[in-house]
Amino acid sequence: MSVLTPEQRAASLKAMRETTYDVLVIGGGVTGAGIALDAASRGLTTAVIEGQDWASGTSSRSSRLVHGGLRYLYNLDFKLVAEALKERGRLLTTIAPHLVEAQPFLWPLKTPVIERSYSAVGVGMYDALAVIGAGGHKTVPIQKHLSKKGAMRRFPEIKPSALRGAIEFYDARVDDARLVITLIRTAVKYGAQAASRVKMMEILKDERGRATGVRAKDLETGEDLTIKAKRIINATGIWTEETQDMAGGTGGLKVLASKGIHIVIPRERLKATTGMFLRTEKSVLFIIPWQHYWVIGTTDTAWHEQLKHPVPTAKDIDYVLEHANEVLDKPLTRDDIIGTYAGLRPLLQPKVLDESKSTKVSREHTVTEVIPGMVAIAGGKLTTYRVMAEDAVDFALGKELAAKKPSITDHLPLVGAAGLEAARNQAARIGSTYGFDADRMKHLFSRYGAEVIDLLAAIDSDPSLGEPLKEAPQFLRAEVHRACAAEGALHLEDIFVARVRLNSEARDRGGAAVDEVAEIAAKVLDWDEERTSREKENYRARIAAELAAEEQETDSAASQERLKAPDIVG
Ligand SMILES: Cc1cc2nc3c(=O)[nH]c(=O)nc-3n(C[C@H](O)[C@H](O)[C@H](O)COP(=O)(O)OP(=O)(O)OC[C@H]3O[C@@H](n4cnc5c(N)ncnc54)[C@H](O)[C@@H]3O)c2cc1C
Repeated sequence: MSVLTPEQRAASLKAMRETTYDVLVIGGGVTGAGIALDAASRGLTTAVIEGQDWASGTSSRSSRLVHGGLRYLYNLDFKLVAEALKERGRLLTTIAPHLVEAQPFLWPLKTPVIERSYSAVGVGMYDALAVIGAGGHKTVPIQKHLSKKGAMRRFPEIKPSALRGAIEFYDARVDDARLVITLIRTAVKYGAQAASRVKMMEILKDERGRATGVRAKDLETGEDLTIKAKRIINATGIWTEETQDMAGGTGGLKVLASKGIHIVIPRERLKATTGMFLRTEKSVLFIIPWQHYWVIGTTDTAWHEQLKHPVPTAKDIDYVLEHANEVLDKPLTRDDIIGTYAGLRPLLQPKVLDESKSTKVSREHTVTEVIPGMVAIAGGKLTTYRVMAEDAVDFALGKELAAKKPSITDHLPLVGAAGLEAARNQAARIGSTYGFDADRMKHLFSRYGAEVIDLLAAIDSDPSLGEPLKEAPQFLRAEVHRACAAEGALHLEDIFVARVRLNSEARDRGGAAVDEVAEIAAKVLDWDEERTSREKENYRARIAAELAAEEQETDSAASQERLKAPDIVG
């Protein structure tokens, strides 16, 4: 079985009370989810707990790119870029070809010869590293040089004065939260026990100071539980210092939070057929097309407020608009924005807390021992989650055991990936049977891959699920049903934020669809009237708080507005 449901969660919690695990993972972002899959697929008994919803930390708040990071080439970080491009190739071809899609970007050039040659060498190297990483195969098309006219054909809204020509290069994009949930579901398929909204409260140690497990709280019931493990892997991103402090040792990592925000605008606002990559004074700005919207970002500013609910300010939003408008002919305004979101980068500080602990440091991520029996990993990026997971499990096992039980995730397809081609070949037939057009079929395959078949089975047993949501017709009612029946949504906000992502993809953050979505969820999750209205009230309060936050000028004022909406549990 590879579904996440309240029943699966209850069974996992029961098992967690009774088992001593080979590996216990704390944190259900992309790093923890990747570790759970890595460990379970090696045949290790594995449990993973997440204090909020799956992916609700940084891993649902990224630029949603699977990329080598062209800008790192400017720092001559070839190894780093090569590793990420190799992972990009694996994700596109084997691991998650349903979720990860190749994406062209325009890089506008402002001066003629020198800039073009310089950029062409950079992009050429990027392409070459990708081909080498994929064993000589091309997993995305290579760069193309475009004249001004050619570039404007691909991106008609670009200001003519903003370019003399352009280079088109490829990267890839992924729905970050969906990737995490799919990783957890695949880990469960290979035997992992998994429970969201279970928070680690204390690290338990034996008399020699070795970690033996954790005390955790089931936030849904308020009950405490003890989970025993031979090894604990802490993958709590920006919470790393808070969680490793529970061990009371001198080891661990130093992690700071830096905020990046995105705005979302409707797909029809720009007719362009490609994304855009712009260098800014601080970093880079991406204009990224999705099937039904554009994502534009990001920023990079220090964040000193609470970590759970980072929010964009009016100033952040203006910054993104201003930089995008430097190249857009018809400037974007606040009225064009349908959604915003903010995330916190786990920025690893150069020093680990105690350098005597054997540490595996890479420029992007670090694994280190916190106390005997517990390791911490942080840094890196979404794209390289698999390498991070492999490193963390290898480190926790130690050289000898790791060699006996090596990682197999470099060739392990996630659920929905196997059989994708055959399933896609049924698209026309399925479309005509169910009355879905090509746009709908594309949407479904990019979200469910070969598991579209399971979505259709639900529609067969209840044909009303085959209807679009009245107020958000890009989604089928069946997708809400599946969020609860297979993807681990426990609350209404879980559906809107990480699964049917209207929280960032619709002008009203999904507000108009609340009643219909709640009615579908209530049936699957067995909510009575009182519970259903509490869920609706809670999500509506969240919408109001998020909208109020983005009107504020400072992080502190925005954070205070956001906190006016209480968490549903915990
Ligand atoms: C603005 C922005 C844009 C980005 N864009 C990209 C991109 O395009 N491509 C890319 O490759 N990378 C990108 N990244 C980086 C990437 O998103 C992160 O590196 C990655 O998501 C971090 O994942 P994580 O699992 O380490 O942390 P998180 O996703 O934050 O997961 C940590 C989890 O630990 C849980 N936790 C904390 N304390 C406890 C506890 N006591 N008990 C149980 N659970 C606990 C939290 O709830 C959280 O879910 C971006 C980051 C940002 C901020």
